[in-house]
Amino acid sequence: MECETLIIGAGAAGMMAAAHAGRGVVVIDHAKAAGEKIRISGGGRCNFTNMGCTAGNFLSRNPHFAKSALKRYTQWDFLDLVARHGIPWHEKTLGQLFCDTSAKDIIAMLQAEMAAAGAQLLLRTALLDLCKTDDGFRAVIKQDGTLHTLTPRHVIVACGGKSIPKMGATGMAYDIARQFGLAVTDTRAALVPFTFSDNPFAPLSGLATPVRAQADGPGFDEAMLFTHRGLSGPAMLQISSYWSDGAPIHINLIPDGALFDALRDQRQIAGRKALKTVLALQLPARLVDYLAPALPLEGNLADASDAHLRDLCDRLENWELRPTGTEGYRTAEVTLGGIDTDGLSSQTMEAKAVPGLYFIGEAVDVTGWLGGYNFQWAWSSGWAAGVAIASRAGNHT
Ligand SMILES: Cc1cc2nc3c(=O)[nH]c(=O)nc-3n(C[C@H](O)[C@H](O)[C@H](O)COP(=O)(O)OP(=O)(O)OC[C@H]3O[C@@H](n4cnc5c(N)ncnc54)[C@H](O)[C@@H]3O)c2cc1C
Repeated sequence: MECETLIIGAGAAGMMAAAHAGRGVVVIDHAKAAGEKIRISGGGRCNFTNMGCTAGNFLSRNPHFAKSALKRYTQWDFLDLVARHGIPWHEKTLGQLFCDTSAKDIIAMLQAEMAAAGAQLLLRTALLDLCKTDDGFRAVIKQDGTLHTLTPRHVIVACGGKSIPKMGATGMAYDIARQFGLAVTDTRAALVPFTFSDNPFAPLSGLATPVRAQADGPGFDEAMLFTHRGLSGPAMLQISSYWSDGAPIHINLIPDGALFDALRDQRQIAGRKALKTVLALQLPARLVDYLAPALPLEGNLADASDAHLRDLCDRLENWELRPTGTEGYRTAEVTLGGIDTDGLSSQTMEAKAVPGLYFIGEAVDVTGWLGGYNFQWAWSSGWAAGVAIASRAGNHT
């Protein structure tokens, strides 16, 4: 089998790279279908990019690393590709772009691009061994019980992180990196719900409310969802990437800051109403009931001084909680950390010390916010590695 470039992993990044890496591309994946995470992403509609995507939306030990690839292959480039394939899409909120119909449209598009470039896709195929040779690599793969030896000049490692092992995540990219002497930063589950011992929020399970949430990073104004196990929803997933074990999280239940004025206005016109009743007009009633024992809510609104109302608002704006943990890789959308970017070229994703070996996508220590940023990193890093390989003499399609 002719193989100039071997790509390990037919996920978002691997397929993108395969479409651009020139001739002689073989993509292997141990799964029975390509792009399984794309298929389930965005509730089946794939939040495939974000209109506001910049390097500022990513976490990495080197915050500059992602800049080059993100600038050279932007969200607009991906949107052009989506438009060329006639895939209908819409913006949901906060610049997040989703397919109108199905995430499968994105998978079909990438497979069509790969086929047009002549790339060969081998599913249910495992990598058994990979080693360096004088002019490239020797890879032993196993497909349908048969061993094949490939001798590619380039290898792109695109087998993702550790999130959702049930879907085939293995963390093999880190093993390959270590085998070739590259450093791997600490990894942990990110974009993941928080858990609390004794399930304190079970009575509120299913309730969502807008909040501003913060851990050890930026604040996020999005929805929070109470669950049987703890706290979820976009606001919690976002801050989970900035949280470390044992640390508190801060929740502002009045993100628009308008409660104090609203209560004062109500005091003028409905002072005889119970403070708790009036608060339940501003916040979900179930939440008010739940929080009531810890809040100064006794009496009528008319009896509440400005200082009393200020105290109430302060407590609602500064709710500090200490999660026990997170749901871990079982439900995490991404893996935080990964292959240390110090060892990679930000232009090409090639390992500085191992010419011909590339790492792309989630495997790399570049982790996006929730909102289409992780796919954009997969497209941009996959494209950067692909065109770098194709631009080498004699490797154009
Ligand atoms: C439930 C869920 C929803 C998400 N929704 C979104 C969203 O809407 N927008 C967004 O931007 N991001 C989303 N993400 C994150 C996004 O899916 C990932 O960031 C992205 O898929 C990473 O692309 P990748 O190609 O690096 O890795 P992956 O897409 O994980 O692809 C890796 C591939 O390598 C294969 N592989 C792994 N190990 C081996 C091995 N040992 N041998 C052979 N093959 C192997 C896997 O089968 C897989 O096909 C979501 C993630 C999850 C889990």
